[in-house]
Amino acid sequence: MTTFIDLGLNASVLSAISELGFENPTPIQEKSIPVFLENERDILGLAQTGTGKTAAFGLPLLQLVDFNAKQTQALIICPTRELCMQITRDLTTYSKHMQGVRIVSVYGGASINGQIEDLRRGAQIIVATPGRLIDLMSRRAVNIKTISYVVLDEADEMLNMGFREDIEGILSVTPDEKRVCLFSATMPKEIRSIANQYMKNPVEISVGKANSSNANISHEYASVHSKDKYAAFKRILDFNNDSFYGIIFCTTKHETQDISDKLIRDGYNADCLHGDLSQGQREKVMSRFRHKAIKILLATDVAARGIDVSDLTHVIHYNLPDDIENYTHRSGRTARAGKLGTSIALLNAREFYRLREIEKLIAIKFNRIMIPSAMEVRDKKLLAFIDTINSTEIEESFFDDVVVNHLKPILELDKEVLMKKMLSLELRRFSAEYMNGPDLNIQERGAGSGSSRGEGDSNETYGASRGTRLFVSIGQKDGLNVGSLKDFVSNVTEIPNANIYRVDVKGVYSFINVDAEQVEKVMTTLHGSDYKGRQVRVEVSGNESAGGRSRSGGGDRGGRSYGGGGDRGGRSYGGGGDRGGRSYGGGGDRGGRSYGGDRDGGSRGGYAGGGDRDGGSRGGYAGGGDRRRSEGARGGDSGFSGARRRTEGSGRRRDF
Ligand code: AMP
Repeated sequence: MTTFIDLGLNASVLSAISELGFENPTPIQEKSIPVFLENERDILGLAQTGTGKTAAFGLPLLQLVDFNAKQTQALIICPTRELCMQITRDLTTYSKHMQGVRIVSVYGGASINGQIEDLRRGAQIIVATPGRLIDLMSRRAVNIKTISYVVLDEADEMLNMGFREDIEGILSVTPDEKRVCLFSATMPKEIRSIANQYMKNPVEISVGKANSSNANISHEYASVHSKDKYAAFKRILDFNNDSFYGIIFCTTKHETQDISDKLIRDGYNADCLHGDLSQGQREKVMSRFRHKAIKILLATDVAARGIDVSDLTHVIHYNLPDDIENYTHRSGRTARAGKLGTSIALLNAREFYRLREIEKLIAIKFNRIMIPSAMEVRDKKLLAFIDTINSTEIEESFFDDVVVNHLKPILELDKEVLMKKMLSLELRRFSAEYMNGPDLNIQERGAGSGSSRGEGDSNETYGASRGTRLFVSIGQKDGLNVGSLKDFVSNVTEIPNANIYRVDVKGVYSFINVDAEQVEKVMTTLHGSDYKGRQVRVEVSGNESAGGRSRSGGGDRGGRSYGGGGDRGGRSYGGGGDRGGRSYGGGGDRGGRSYGGDRDGGSRGGYAGGGDRDGGSRGGYAGGGDRRRSEGARGGDSGFSGARRRTEGSGRRRDF
């Protein structure tokens, strides 16, 4: 495997990235860095955000720029202030062991005088949004005649935002002998035309196909009536409990605010990001989101550009983007740096045909998921609650004589009565909707035999659309997390790490997905192996055999959970046997009750997905608290305001 040393980077850069934990270069880094360092040629890079592009151009740039000289040598132009700040932050970190480095970022929405001051003090590298840079050039606050390197990052985004004229204006005053490096997630003909005009015989570097999407993203959609979108979205949230961490894309700022208000009213910790917020407000929202103080962020396309937050589990498209190329940008917010992510489009009947256009453009196939039924969400929450009780360590020091005395009235209760009382309390917290809410899925028009969807796809299970789902009998209690479980499985089975996906590590067990053809290998190697003295058991999750699962992909935990005989239930809840009957006092096989009827019990079962231990999630959602609204923020000191003024009526821009 190629290392950063092989790429020709120097010691100070190498030590900075090794401190960051970058072990190996990403594909775009592997391809770009040597060309950048050794070659005199321009670079035209096709890469999505999240692929490690910043380091791909940033690391060689830091090595090539002469920091003993004061003059500006490199210009990095990107679409938004968020991205500007991110790139500046990254370059500053990569150059922490270098002397004399001055990197200044300039973008709209902040005081221009402060930026002029910063520039006066000298900057070998300027990171800029196009509009602000033009302003600064016209005020003679920057001198880009000495530039040797120009990087255009997210070039397609800049064109979408109407910056073409500005970019051309900037490029036309830079020296002819500069090198240009252009990165774009898509390659529309306008980009080609810029490349033809301003780049000399560029080396073309591509990770993935043109307009392609990150392979670690699972693209899913659900069909619902417009009026049910909010309820459907809440079910996705509630079903995922505490693990949901994502961005919800809306078309207008009004919609982001409206949904965010509703979520807060309903007790969720959400916030929104749109063009009416002041820079300070945006930064506050972003900081809280980055630190997971809020895990649900509503955003417009423009406001979300440049957001670099790792670990997002979901991107939700409340509406599909007007410009379908934006789909790649949106979904690329998840599954960053090799992680996995899920992109879910909530579609009404009229939006369906646009999904097909996206499928064609990005050459992916969306899997239909079903919005969980009210009962399934309720059950998932209850299981999580029970799991939390079961896994809570008793803190003896809390139970002094006084407390024990207080407990007397309930200690005298029969165990089952006590349990039922506790569960009743918990159940009462669920809205009426989750006691008997309607099915929110709608029949899909055009999904019949003539469609690209195979028959039966409509029963694919939420959150379980690729590969074969396997139950593995080791988990958090064994000291494992997603990374270490993947490593262990990969070591034992010799299946590459990247081919083990949808890893879900629970208390005493985990789930993984592998491609159907790898199942046998896992069974013969991992099943029966030893992990820290525990024998590892592997089972195809649910009732189906591996072969039977190959079409729609795995993820059928529910057959196990609800179908009775669940070893998981037995282990987690200390009961053994069918958890349904025991835990809830009667009712026997829950599978029959909840999942009878029109749905395929197997695939629906996937929802049951075994109690993330997140009784605490409710705590997380509660409070709602400290949301600030955008009042007073109008009058827009948005970083986009400059660009917006210039491009009004351009037709491509919409209200954000
Ligand atoms: P970018 O595409 O530049 O926005 O990078 C996406 C994320 O990947 C950022 O959080 C980077 O810190 C991270 N990253 C970049 N290169 C590597 C690498 N070689 N190894 C691990 N993480 C990386």
